[in-house]
Amino acid sequence: MASRFKCPNCGAPNTYKGEGDTVQCKYCGSEVRPPEEMVTKATVERVSSKAKVWIILFIVVVFVLPTCIGFGGTLIGIAASILGVLASIFASFIGG
Ligand SMILES: [Zn+2]
Repeated sequence: MASRFKCPNCGAPNTYKGEGDTVQCKYCGSEVRPPEEMVTKATVERVSSKAKVWIILFIVVVFVLPTCIGFGGTLIGIAASILGVLASIFASFIGG
């Protein structure tokens, strides 16, 4: 997110894109530091976008993976019970 601020040296309008702590003024060429709250806000936004990735990973690991494993386990359980039924039918034929 780009924020506008005035260069403290020459007063020209500059845009802070949230990258790094300083911006080179387009007009006087000096390295100027944007207002502190803009730098802080940009840092918070960078950190929270990283946090979102971790939250998504956490949700996948905690909720989605067990659901997939549970679903796979259910399928194996159904297959095993079908095999068991078939085996008992087969055994009853053999046993007469
Ligand atoms: Zn300037």
